[in-house]
Amino acid sequence: MPTVTSTIVMKFGGTSMADIARIRNAATRVKREFDAGHQVAVVVSAMAGTTNQLVKWCNEVDPLHDAREYDAVVATGEQITAGLLAMALQSIAVPARSWQGWQVAIRTDGAHGRARVDSIDSAALLADMAAGRVAVIAGFQGVASGAGGIAFGAEGIVAGRISTLGRGGSDLSAVAIAAALGAERCDIYTDVDGIYTTDPRIVKNARKLERISFEEMLELASVGAKVLQTRSVELAMKHGVRIQVLSSFSDAPGSFVVSEDEIVEKLLVSGVAYSADDAKVTLRRVPDRPGIAARLFGALASAHVNVDMIVQNLGADGTTDMTFTVGRADLARAQEVLQGLRGALEYEAVVTDPNVVKISVVGIGMRSHAGVAATMFDALSAKNINIQVISTSEIKVSVLIEAAYKELAVRALHTAFGLDGPMPAETEEAAEGQ
Ligand code: ASP
Ligand code: MG
Repeated sequence: MPTVTSTIVMKFGGTSMADIARIRNAATRVKREFDAGHQVAVVVSAMAGTTNQLVKWCNEVDPLHDAREYDAVVATGEQITAGLLAMALQSIAVPARSWQGWQVAIRTDGAHGRARVDSIDSAALLADMAAGRVAVIAGFQGVASGAGGIAFGAEGIVAGRISTLGRGGSDLSAVAIAAALGAERCDIYTDVDGIYTTDPRIVKNARKLERISFEEMLELASVGAKVLQTRSVELAMKHGVRIQVLSSFSDAPGSFVVSEDEIVEKLLVSGVAYSADDAKVTLRRVPDRPGIAARLFGALASAHVNVDMIVQNLGADGTTDMTFTVGRADLARAQEVLQGLRGALEYEAVVTDPNVVKISVVGIGMRSHAGVAATMFDALSAKNINIQVISTSEIKVSVLIEAAYKELAVRALHTAFGLDGPMPAETEEAAEGQ
């Protein structure tokens, strides 16, 4: 048995687990870290597409299914890959065993389908790893626990049931386990080789970031960058878990997500993200008087409609237009709420527009430098792109524009903030010319 140097967590996403050849490939990567002397805990996703299929079956049986049974079903995808990867490791002489959420145990608050991790009992895992075995843990799942273990309620036993952590939740499992084990880092293996300044499908010469801060990653994840689940970044930030995002299909070094003080060069803008998940709502000619906004947004909040960006136009003749965005999936509910407020708010009309995209620039350098918003608006106006709504935070500026301009806007901003790298093809040609 090699001398143990430190503990690392390796997480493999659905595409890295998609078939047996890929599971063997993941096993080879685990073996490499194990042979280097690390104690390794591996967290796996289900095979790509499996969870979608399981969700579909649940909805087919009953769209209003019992959330606890939904969890019993959808958690199975990760049980398959955990067992298969443990076998693949054993077949290349790496001692390994699989762990389901309840066996660890990963305890959750029991909010089925979107549970939070309350605690992780790391003792058994640590003992098994210390005995020289790789721990292969099913991601995405935990066990619901009442405060004192099994709790009895009107519904019978309410604790002790499998609960899942929300879609994309195996990232969260990996970070939570890394925190519980005090791991040196949490390597997230996926199908891209890192975190890019923007979507490389839109900007060919997007650059891979060597490092990005937790805060920037959190903002980027929440505005559309899909590489890490938002909640996992939140948890990593809280516990200082260093994440590396890397590809299981190449040996290129990945991108690190770390705390801000590890970042020397604080970029003004480190990423441009977009999200097409929003819809715009405008209330025309609302009375311009105190209490209207409180009433409106209070009612939306009570209906669990999340409002993101808000603008109120300058009032004229005692009325004003109020525009805001909601998640597109919540649009119907928002419209219902507004219909119900018609009498109280005395607005003239509701106009909705799902044909919008939100573009955001994010960077910790913004804290100490003025002018980011101005540069952003200039770049968009140079392309004749109209800005419909604006919102800002300390390290982010977002604008809402017509969906058709998404790619143009992303490219223009990527260039305006100096993020363009060398064109991949051009560099090759230049090299050949020499
Ligand atoms: N398999 C789960 C999902 O597809 C969890 C994950 O892959 O992160 O959402
Ligand atoms: Mg994922």
